[in-house]
Amino acid sequence: MSAAKSTEGVNPFHMAQKQFDHTADLMGLSADAREILRWPLREFKFQIPVRMDDGSLRVFFGYRVQHNDARGPAKGGIRFHPSETLDTVRALAMWMTWKTAVVNIPLGGGKGGVAVQPASLSRRELEALARGWIRGIWRNIGPRIDIPAPDVGTTPQMMGWMMDEYSHLVGAYTPGVITGKPIPAGGSPGRREATGFGVVYQIREAMKLLNMEPEKTTASIQGFGNVGRHAALAYQKFLGGKVVAVAYWDNHDQRPYTIASDDGLDVEFLASITDVFGTIDKDRAREAGYRVEDGDAWLRKDVDVLIPAALEAQIREDNVHLISDRVRILAEAANGPTTPEADEVLKTRNILVIPDFLCNAGGVVVSYFEGVQSDMNYYWTKDEVLERLDTKLTHAFHEVFRLAHGEGLYPREAAYIVAIQRVVQSMEARGWI
Ligand code: NAD
Repeated sequence: MSAAKSTEGVNPFHMAQKQFDHTADLMGLSADAREILRWPLREFKFQIPVRMDDGSLRVFFGYRVQHNDARGPAKGGIRFHPSETLDTVRALAMWMTWKTAVVNIPLGGGKGGVAVQPASLSRRELEALARGWIRGIWRNIGPRIDIPAPDVGTTPQMMGWMMDEYSHLVGAYTPGVITGKPIPAGGSPGRREATGFGVVYQIREAMKLLNMEPEKTTASIQGFGNVGRHAALAYQKFLGGKVVAVAYWDNHDQRPYTIASDDGLDVEFLASITDVFGTIDKDRAREAGYRVEDGDAWLRKDVDVLIPAALEAQIREDNVHLISDRVRILAEAANGPTTPEADEVLKTRNILVIPDFLCNAGGVVVSYFEGVQSDMNYYWTKDEVLERLDTKLTHAFHEVFRLAHGEGLYPREAAYIVAIQRVVQSMEARGWI
């Protein structure tokens, strides 16, 4: 299996449009609003020539898509991944519009990327690529226009280089142009943990709805990057539950594996043997007494909670049946991990689904806090940031689940309705429709 197959042939933008069309029908959305929201407002594709360490010149393609900015500047990460396409970026940009709206922060939706395997580049080449991405797009981003952030394959260090490049180009220190920066470069305390912790704050609320005892529960996670790792840490630390399996993409073998232990994994130890791209040292995991299983094993685990935290289209019609009857909560930490066809199956199962753009909104909430702090040039403590994050997400979670229960809706439908209504209200108030 190659990295290029990681989305299993599913076009994420078709998935995003299908979900949108379904909700638009459900809520009787006007034709005018549909016309605008089905497609991004603006799309950019540009060359990034990079002088490689061996002296050759390699031309990469960079993307930025701004799906909607009715509620504020576009906002969303930059992904460095070999299967990045314009359609992946479009889908992720659209999901960002719903994400910022569902948690009610004054931002729109955007996303960017480069088709590249970042683990194959040296540090110098990565810096050249990150700076090149900014040089290709800098006139079309900015603290009042569009504010990028990290995503799969990009790191706080890359955000630091990008902020520096932008500041040089505009001739003024501008930390508010990008979020997810290292703290000494204007980053916010708590940003690194935000997405994973936010996932677990919502699992905690879901467990209250289901009368579950968190410390007696187990979880299985796909992905051990920024999101999966912090979700795993928080699951043990805040809920007292056990993480029994973690799947990851092995950059050396070019295939996924699952690391498992029925007694629970020591997440901090696992984090200490994982590289910046989320590849775990499986030999050291084996030495520690853990099992190394196939890439799908995480999905088959007999656990209470499943947390897909890797890529889109991982739970599909062909594998959704692998999910055990014991699973009570599916917390979608990744963007678009479940296809619409798998959703139809999940609707018939006794599983509470925390939909992606609500579940993983912690990152963008703290990115918003980071932007506010960067613009003020005044920073809060980590505790303050995480407390504000918890309040914001807990409120959004209950807003969505109240609507879902009140109207008998699937949680994804309820989250879409809350989000789309907010975007439409802003478009109306600005006279777009
Ligand atoms: P990352 O690059 O830090 O980590 C990705 C992880 O997924 C790695 O451990 C990698 O090995 C694993 N992976 C990749 N393909 C896999 C496969 N086929 N099978 C098993 N594991 C696989 O990325 P991240 O920032 O943690 O993002 C993960 C997901 O969360 C993405 O969908 C991203 O869009 C979403 N997300 C991220 C943030 C954020 O703040 N970073 C915020 C919201 C949503």
